[in-house]
Amino acid sequence: MNYIYAFAEDQTLTNQELGGKGANLAEMTRLGLPVPAGFTITTAACRQYLASAKQETGFLEDELMKAVHILEEKTQRQLGNTKQPLLVSVRSGAPISMPGMMDTILNLGLNDQTVIGLAEMTNDPWFAYDCYRRLIQMFGDVVYGIDKPIFEAALTALKNKRQVQKDTDLTLVDLKQLIETYKGLYVAAGQYQFPQSVDQQLRLAIEAVFKSWQNPRAQTYRRLNQIDGAMGTAVNVQQMVFGNYQGQSGTGVAFTRNPATGEPGLFGEYLLNAQGEDVVAGIRTPEPIATLKAQLPVIYEQFKTIANQLEAHYRDMQDMEFTIEAGQLYVLQTRVGKRTAPAAFRIAVDLVDEGVIDRPTAISRLKPTMIDGLLHPLFETSAVQQATQLLTGLPASPGAATGAIYFDAQKAQQAHEAGEKVVLVRQETSPEDIDGMVISEAIVTSRGGMTSHAAVVARGMGCCCVVGCQQLQVDYEQRAAHFAGRVLKEGAIISVDGHTGHLYLGALPQQTGVHETTLGTVLSWCDEIAPFAVWANAETPQEVATAFEFGAQGLGLVRTEHMFFGPERIFKMRQMILATELADRQVALAALKALQINDFKQIFSLAEERPCTIRLLDPPLHEFLPQNEAEQAELATALGISLAEIKRRIADKAEINPMLGHRGSRLAVTYPEIYQMQVLAIAESALAVQTTHHHAVAPKIMLPLIGTATEMAYLKQLLQQTIDDYLAENQQQLAYQIGTMIEIPRACLVADKIAATADFFSFGTNDLTQMTYGFSRDDIGHFMPDYQQQGLMPAEPFQTLDQDGVGALMQLAVQKGRQTKPDLSIGVCGEVGGDPTAMPFYRDLGIDYVSCSPYRVPSARLAAAQSQLTLAD
Ligand code: ADP
Ligand code: MG
Ligand code: MG
Repeated sequence: MNYIYAFAEDQTLTNQELGGKGANLAEMTRLGLPVPAGFTITTAACRQYLASAKQETGFLEDELMKAVHILEEKTQRQLGNTKQPLLVSVRSGAPISMPGMMDTILNLGLNDQTVIGLAEMTNDPWFAYDCYRRLIQMFGDVVYGIDKPIFEAALTALKNKRQVQKDTDLTLVDLKQLIETYKGLYVAAGQYQFPQSVDQQLRLAIEAVFKSWQNPRAQTYRRLNQIDGAMGTAVNVQQMVFGNYQGQSGTGVAFTRNPATGEPGLFGEYLLNAQGEDVVAGIRTPEPIATLKAQLPVIYEQFKTIANQLEAHYRDMQDMEFTIEAGQLYVLQTRVGKRTAPAAFRIAVDLVDEGVIDRPTAISRLKPTMIDGLLHPLFETSAVQQATQLLTGLPASPGAATGAIYFDAQKAQQAHEAGEKVVLVRQETSPEDIDGMVISEAIVTSRGGMTSHAAVVARGMGCCCVVGCQQLQVDYEQRAAHFAGRVLKEGAIISVDGHTGHLYLGALPQQTGVHETTLGTVLSWCDEIAPFAVWANAETPQEVATAFEFGAQGLGLVRTEHMFFGPERIFKMRQMILATELADRQVALAALKALQINDFKQIFSLAEERPCTIRLLDPPLHEFLPQNEAEQAELATALGISLAEIKRRIADKAEINPMLGHRGSRLAVTYPEIYQMQVLAIAESALAVQTTHHHAVAPKIMLPLIGTATEMAYLKQLLQQTIDDYLAENQQQLAYQIGTMIEIPRACLVADKIAATADFFSFGTNDLTQMTYGFSRDDIGHFMPDYQQQGLMPAEPFQTLDQDGVGALMQLAVQKGRQTKPDLSIGVCGEVGGDPTAMPFYRDLGIDYVSCSPYRVPSARLAAAQSQLTLAD
């Protein structure tokens, strides 16, 4: 097996072998783009290296020498040659992109001799020695773990001594002195030497990149992104091109579309006279790419053409690195660009409009979790107007967040663990800060641009982020931030607006619910291919309106008990419950009925012709009764009975196991007048809305907690009679249905018999899960953590459908129910109705709809459509 391939040598190799960077370098080479020559050492070599006990690269030796030789032929330069030295970069590149997580070394091949050769060859000694000192710095960091700040401190000290601001103000003599200082730092750090042998440089660099696969920040990143840790990284060895050369030279990073908003057009930044690292590291604040158009118009046009070509080729937004050496453009990297949730939707829709991809492809590229990101918070407009604005930076990642400021990742983590909400504020971030970034509400930096490390990582995490707050000076020693004569100490509360880039003093209230038009477009495509519909569980007019705004096609669960909790309502309810005589109960019920009619009218008029599933009273009655004496006394007076008597009647309703007690349809067996009142309220309000709003109303009356076919038949008959009598009296028509929730395991087992009288089924997965497992949802907090720790229960079954157990009962119920009524309407209305991982299961179950809370409707619509696409693959 070969471990090393020249770029584009073998067409059959994929990201798995070459890593993303290597595969794309090969592809770009094949496309004839200006890519510096090089070769890729495969991930298999990395795995082999990491697996061997001594971690040696001996097994690569022969192939490596051959590959270097070929590269030397191609470039007409030689590694270690003092006249025509070949310089290379040694770049990491994993199968799945892990931006900035692993290491790269530039300018490899320089030593005390070849640097002279480079100086003569380019006729630019300053440049040659600048490359050399960069190599020593990067090599020390990557190979020997000598921290960057140690080198930076030496550089800063020299600049201070020379009283200059910029690196470029240092003289050639200064650089040579700096190089000697740097070599001394190797010795000081642990008796290391900067290797003068270029072969040794290459070998050590390759090994260091292999090892960087295992570094803690790479491991954290993989854990967060669920990337397989066994893959290993590839290594790319590539001829250097120099953005830090004289004349028209520079380096930059650009996206084919704006990664924050999705807006079409080149988006990025660059620095003249700089090497690759300088842009991402946020050392200097770069220029926006638009400026390049004015500065180097020919190169700008050339780059734009290449960018378009790459986007068309990969059929997705690209994130590219380029370098200009003395007026010559090179592309050093391209990959599918990371983007915010709003950008992902905008780009998906635009690419479909442009004919680049089809709708199913667009849908498959989006994730249900992105939608939560789209409904990202904003600060309340009025609060923003009154707030004290501190500073403005670049809006790198949207969101609105408030927290206490901390200036290093570790402190931020400690504060987070102590329960504080934190905002990480830094000059710039580096991959070492990842653990602190993950737990921050927002990230703020004083330097760096829209493609700096902080910006890229925050967007990936969906974390609010503002970068490049130029006025801000972070004093790590004093643990304070200075700007415009003000000071903010560690722990101060600020609010960060990732949409605008503004920072505010103190906490600002948030508003929610940004509804993107592109989201609506994608979701309408989803509805066309989804194997079932998405309805909503909603009960207040506000929730119902939100549900329809989010595209629910019906209401799968309107609970009626919450309608009785308002202050004046609960009193009537209590009167009704505690009445001992039917006549007294009737009086209270009449008052409640008037209130229910009002509720249902609002819901029916909002729902228009969409189906509305209204569940009749479900909870045990004692839930409505007053527990404190003052309220009990008030009730006693109103009912004209003694306090002692009230207490006795309340005690009478108490149950040992209320969830398995007198609730659901069992209430109606004892007190039929309650459900009769509710169905009459439904009928009366439905007729009223049909008349006033001129549309049909489709009520689906749902009986909770049915466990036997006899219960179902009895209540169905009773309620149907009640409604039909009313309709006949008023000479009116109404298309209503009476069905049941399937939430008792027994109901699944006898579903064929229940279906004989039920007009529809809807799985109440909360109770069904509770009774299938035999544990109560309200009490699992005591033991579920232990189960999860022991790996006995991988997922919380109230959040993620238990397909094996609860799912098996559902399958049985569907099969038996449809055996009796082939076109029985069946839905799922529990918490797990919106569970994206359960969608393929629901598709196979053959249900008609799922129903979930309004805010989960958009992601459920996407997940439902995606379940159909996986089937098509
Ligand atoms: P990362 O994955 O962290 O971006 P890269 O391997 O892409 O690491 O390299 C880091 C920086 O060095 C990038 O800006 C890249 O463009 C630049 N670079 C890499 N190889 C070369 C090269 N052969 N010539 C010039 N610049 C290079
Ligand atoms: Mg890169
Ligand atoms: Mg229930």
